[in-house]
Amino acid sequence: MPKPLTCAGCKGSVSSYQAIHCVFECRPFPNPRSARAPPLRACGTCYHEGCIEVGAPFRTRHKDGRGLVYPLTAAASGFVCEACTLRAHVGRELSRTHKDVYLLKLERMRMIDVAHNWAPRTLTSYRSRLRFIRNFERTYGVVCLPTLKLDTPPITPAIPLMWAMQHYALQKPRGSHPSSGDQVSWATARALRSAASFYNEGLMALQYPASSLRDPTSKRGRLSPGRSPTDFLGFSMMAAGMAKRMGTASKPARALRLEHVLWNLRFRDRQYQVCTDPQMRLEIATAAFAEIAAFCGWLRGGEVFGMDAEDVEYVPPESGPAHGLREGIGFFQVDLLDSTKSSQDAKADIVFASETSSGLDGGMWWGPFVGWPRRDGLPGRRSLSTPFGAPMGQQLFSSPAPVPPPPPSVGGG
Ligand SMILES: [Zn+2]
Ligand SMILES: [Zn+2]
Repeated sequence: MPKPLTCAGCKGSVSSYQAIHCVFECRPFPNPRSARAPPLRACGTCYHEGCIEVGAPFRTRHKDGRGLVYPLTAAASGFVCEACTLRAHVGRELSRTHKDVYLLKLERMRMIDVAHNWAPRTLTSYRSRLRFIRNFERTYGVVCLPTLKLDTPPITPAIPLMWAMQHYALQKPRGSHPSSGDQVSWATARALRSAASFYNEGLMALQYPASSLRDPTSKRGRLSPGRSPTDFLGFSMMAAGMAKRMGTASKPARALRLEHVLWNLRFRDRQYQVCTDPQMRLEIATAAFAEIAAFCGWLRGGEVFGMDAEDVEYVPPESGPAHGLREGIGFFQVDLLDSTKSSQDAKADIVFASETSSGLDGGMWWGPFVGWPRRDGLPGRRSLSTPFGAPMGQQLFSSPAPVPPPPPSVGGG
């Protein structure tokens, strides 16, 4: 007859149902710290539900003691007891010394905290669902949930580091801040993790210079081979330091309002009326049209100055009815993206009215831009292939731009 099992928490007898059993309860495992050392003993550890708990000096902010007891469902995928995890990390059997007992407590607290990563209600609801899956497996002789296979307890520097963090959280704070209690706060304790993360990032950049990078979401280092050298962690670290040294301030963009644009257009109209040089007239028309297109189409600088006449289709007001519009309403449609530029049946990226109720008359400036006379009869100059950028950027959009002081009222486009 098998020996009755004893709970490692309350020392009472345990039936196998509704108990937490260590994976190495009946199985010795090789000493992970030394292949030549004898295997570490089977621990014989099992617990009743609710018997994995900690007391002082650990504390919880919950009045009902929540957070200090290990929830049963958390062991659903497998459970390695605190003695096995500790023995694997120190590479020997434990003794009843103060240090070993203290480390056992830290490990017990660590695994309880790990288990509380899930909300109690979530764990409770998963319990019945997992039972359903287990019943399904038994009924139909299939495996839905693979069994944990471990040769030794998991070993990683992260576990002792978590003990260090648990230990740090038990220290008395040094500061005289009124909010300082008798133990350091979580906000202080987690700084230990950041410090270790800083250390590990430096280590990673040196050990794996070509496969470590900084994760864009978490901003932490991680390994990911096959990256461009510009993504390497070392490169990201230098770029961050360089940006701090040189500063990232750029000239802030200036918001244009309708009043500004109307002022500019009136200014250009006066220029156009007195100008006799065909080249200069083209440039004025181009600047005026570019400004209207930018304002009505919400275009960025690269989009408006990269556009040329072939990307724009003008439907004059008299052709409005052919496009389902009322007579007297025309529009521009602009193909900006490569996908729309190269595909004849794709829709235009931007559509805006040829003349807006607020007085932006793109139609009047479009004529001279493509070489027709202006609507008021003033001559234009044909230049279909001239991109907007070259002439305008140099002469009419360079600083100081003809922008008036901010008007008193706010306008719309
Ligand atoms: Zn018990
Ligand atoms: Zn164990």
